[in-house]
Amino acid sequence: MKVLGVDIGGTKIRMGVIDEKGNILYDERVPTELPLYPYLEEQVLRMLRQHPGIEAVGIGTHGFVDPVGGRIIYATETLPGWTGTPVKEKLESATGLRVEVENDAACAALVEAKLGAAKGRDRIAVLTLGTGLGGGIIWDGKILSGGPHGGAAEIGHMILYPGGALCTCGRRGCFEQYVSGTGLRRRIAEAGLDMTPDELFRRSEADPEARKLVEAFTYDLAVVISTLQAAFDMETAVIGGGVSDSAEYWWDSLLSKLDPLLLHPLEVKKAQFGNDAGILGAALLTAEERNAS
Ligand SMILES: [Zn+2]
Repeated sequence: MKVLGVDIGGTKIRMGVIDEKGNILYDERVPTELPLYPYLEEQVLRMLRQHPGIEAVGIGTHGFVDPVGGRIIYATETLPGWTGTPVKEKLESATGLRVEVENDAACAALVEAKLGAAKGRDRIAVLTLGTGLGGGIIWDGKILSGGPHGGAAEIGHMILYPGGALCTCGRRGCFEQYVSGTGLRRRIAEAGLDMTPDELFRRSEADPEARKLVEAFTYDLAVVISTLQAAFDMETAVIGGGVSDSAEYWWDSLLSKLDPLLLHPLEVKKAQFGNDAGILGAALLTAEERNAS
């Protein structure tokens, strides 16, 4: 069985033809064009024509999603006009195929639970540290998401420092403003330094000022993981996203900060899937029974 997995981001849309074993048979990227609908439909229909035999379509997208109805409840200004789009209904009617839609961080969590770093585990939390902080919870083998506002498991918007840094959600002090690429850049600027987060990590072994910032970051990340353990008692916490590419420089610091904050022992692993997590996780949505219609 072949499935089309689609990963929608603010600047590009990646589409992959995936087989039942999770192999990527073909993939391509197109720029994100606005309005996203009907552009997305045109791109999906083109892929279906070019790759006969695709039986379902999974969509992972930025934003808050109603996973049952497959509608975008809220997307930030990254994807203007996307809020309110009934993606599942429109694409199912255009393609005649089953379509599932989920938040992209939830897709990343699904692929780590089914094929990746937490394969075989039923309860996991996946933190995707990119520009922002994406969170995905797998609860008894299934994605925990949805809710009346599509906001369940929006871990990035739990408040870490009340009254702290202003977040894209309009409130202050969210996890995302501290534990993400954006948060690292802000810490660097506030310290009067001029370097990328990657340079910060690399310098931290020799430079005490850089090390201080990295330790503040790993402490906040440890608080996030500890908070999630209290809420979900997951078997494994998985850390992915672009910031995790430099994990060799800060992993030991994270584990030492985490140790006194945990209620119970916890397995902490680096994500296995990098950029492929989006399309693979989106494709896996169509293998889930939860949304079967
Ligand atoms: Zn927020």
